[in-house]
Amino acid sequence: MNAAIVTVGDELLAGRTTNTNATWLCERLAERGVTLERVTTVPDRIADIASVVGDYSAAYDAVVVTGGLGPTHDDVTMAGIAAAFDRDLEPDETALEWLEDRGYSRADLTSGTADLPAGARPLHNGEGVAPGAVCENVYVLPGVPAEMRAMFESVADEFSGARTYRETVVADEPESALLDRFESLREEFDVAVGSYPGESVRIELSGTDEDAVAAAAAWLRERVETVEER
Ligand code: ATP
Ligand code: MG
Repeated sequence: MNAAIVTVGDELLAGRTTNTNATWLCERLAERGVTLERVTTVPDRIADIASVVGDYSAAYDAVVVTGGLGPTHDDVTMAGIAAAFDRDLEPDETALEWLEDRGYSRADLTSGTADLPAGARPLHNGEGVAPGAVCENVYVLPGVPAEMRAMFESVADEFSGARTYRETVVADEPESALLDRFESLREEFDVAVGSYPGESVRIELSGTDEDAVAAAAAWLRERVETVEER
């Protein structure tokens, strides 16, 4: 299964909010074996949300969208999703009933709080108020990190893929000096090799064959100047 993430918010593009939702979702989805193909941030603008979500919905198995839920003027994500699928936005009866069960009266809720694209499956917000939704293969989650995480966990089982195994080797050598060994690794083992230079070089070996990944890591550890793993 592959997927894309769309984070919505002017404040993300302005650098006022760090996009921890994207990183957290990438990690959780990768853990579940999902291949992430795109992470895109769009402004709080209906046309931009609709165009990116429409494209990604057609291109990938699933799309996870966060941010811009709720009834305030700058929360336009649901309108963008509705536009992407050419649907109307309408109050969702199940979401309203769920909110009533939690002590909110319909009269007290700001108008539009439970408006979802017609026919969407509501996702209840156990940590907040504004509901999320699943519309075709698009999962729409809140922006507030605690709300987003709780809602993602409620649908996490719907995301799956082949389990990936991973080993890390940290080399105390310049990255350029390691190229020959990277090439041998790729020739000899069925693994992907990622190289992430910093103070030392972190080499990530991954693949769906656990034994191949372990063998590749053992092979490499014998052939590089290693430092303690961190
Ligand atoms: P609410 O229903 O409370 O209005 P929301 O779903 O509309 O939430 P936003 O209004 O987009 O979410 O964002 C609410 C807050 O959540 C932001 O001020 C920011 O602090 C945080 N937030 C939003 N998007 C992200 C993100 N991608 N990563 C980290 N934090 C985020
Ligand atoms: Mg908001």
